[in-house]
Amino acid sequence: MARLRIKDILNTAPTEQTITVKGWVRTFRNNSFIALNDGSTNNNLQVVVDFNNTPETILKRITTGAALSVTGTLIPSLGKGQTVEVKASSVEILGDSDAEKYPLQPKKHSLEFLREIAHLRFRTNTFGAVFRVRNTLAHAIHTFFQERGFVYMHTPIITSSDAEGAGEMFRVTSFDIANPPKDEKGNVDYSQDFFGKSTNLTVSGQLEGELAAMAFSDIYTFGPTFRAENSNTARHLAEFWMIEPEMAFCDLNDNMNVAEEMLQYVIKIALDKNLEDIQFLSQRLEEEEKQKPQNERSELNLLDKLKFCLENKFERVTYTQAIEILRESNHNKKKKFQYLVDKWGVDLQSEHERYLVEKHFKKPVILIDYPKEIKSFYMRQNDDGKTVAAMDILFPGIGEIVGGSQREERLDKLEVRMKEIGIPVEELSWYLDTRRFGSCPHAGFGLGFERLVLFVTGMTNIRDVIPFPRTPKNCEF
Ligand code: ATP
Ligand code: MN
Repeated sequence: MARLRIKDILNTAPTEQTITVKGWVRTFRNNSFIALNDGSTNNNLQVVVDFNNTPETILKRITTGAALSVTGTLIPSLGKGQTVEVKASSVEILGDSDAEKYPLQPKKHSLEFLREIAHLRFRTNTFGAVFRVRNTLAHAIHTFFQERGFVYMHTPIITSSDAEGAGEMFRVTSFDIANPPKDEKGNVDYSQDFFGKSTNLTVSGQLEGELAAMAFSDIYTFGPTFRAENSNTARHLAEFWMIEPEMAFCDLNDNMNVAEEMLQYVIKIALDKNLEDIQFLSQRLEEEEKQKPQNERSELNLLDKLKFCLENKFERVTYTQAIEILRESNHNKKKKFQYLVDKWGVDLQSEHERYLVEKHFKKPVILIDYPKEIKSFYMRQNDDGKTVAAMDILFPGIGEIVGGSQREERLDKLEVRMKEIGIPVEELSWYLDTRRFGSCPHAGFGLGFERLVLFVTGMTNIRDVIPFPRTPKNCEF
């Protein structure tokens, strides 16, 4: 008999029909009641075993973590918290789980402990909810772009360009690193390496994305990205997933509109498809926040925060305005920032971003027109000679979630800027060809997927929204 998923069973009218269900035991009470879960939902299916007619040898093997196949009849449930249950006629043990040794006991475990057993944490309510939401968001991102005619482009993971400057890179080599070939000067001779040159894992697919946008008009990437930055924060991973749309015939305003529309679209889909999971995560967060002092707790719960994001336009502010707000803030005057904001031109730290979003505007903020010195070479220069057409989207609890810009499409200006900051123009000749042949105004952005998942799930550490996090000194599983 075909297996039914627990999510569907829980929505089926019970008419004593015979069904088969398979899953893992969460708990087994009184030798009678199994809470069975198959990952389709956080809600368990109650299976009632007739212990008088079930062999002792089977009963003993129904332990937390064991995999079962159950056939029985679906009946209305008299118990609290469920409308249906299965009266088992047969219970087959597919895989035993030694209750003494099983690391996931039916009790509350800390997120830190669960990170150490990340291979099993999928089986908890919290991570069940997180990764179902993550799945929905990934699908919704594709749907958003596909519905709008964007072409999904696979940009390379191994690259030889080291000019983007987005972060420290991981080297890719097939050399015996204890004994690499050297040239006459004693330097490592990469011309003898696998690709005949030095290569790295990509920090961004943007430059290649721009090439494709100059043919398809609208493209997006959605792939893994690597940064060897040694920042052990709750918002940085060494391996993360990034979504990078790139759009021809598009300026900074259009760019902001697409990013805002996309974020609202995917959040709405997650609320529609995973409401139960998000409600569960909202409660989890409230519990977690009870540990914090009153003034550090968020004013809105997760559910309300997500709805709030859907109902309000993001605040659009220039970098210059933001610096004024920060400089004049009581926070700055009372020296509550670790990095004080004293002059125009400084880079914003995440404490500043969060102040603007959480304390000042109390909604998502798009900061535009940053000083050119603190942004990348490819961003379009504004007429003031000081700023570039950049945009960062800042979210409550997260800080920067999106970084983007209108790109510099004017060859002369781009080359001058590259020379100014010492980027080898010849090495990026392929990139500059887009400006030589049919250049046009274009723009794009990068959305860090895990930061989005953090926001929608209300988790507080980025290590808890990717299945197997890679961070400094940590690459388990
Ligand atoms: P941050 O200042 O937070 O380090 P960034 O300025 O280095 O970010 P970009 O180079 O603009 O970020 O990358 C685009 C997006 O990728 C960011 O807005 C963020 O959402 C995400 N991102 C960047 N670095 C990481 C990382 N190490 N781990 C997870 N996501 C990241
Ligand atoms: Mn960074």
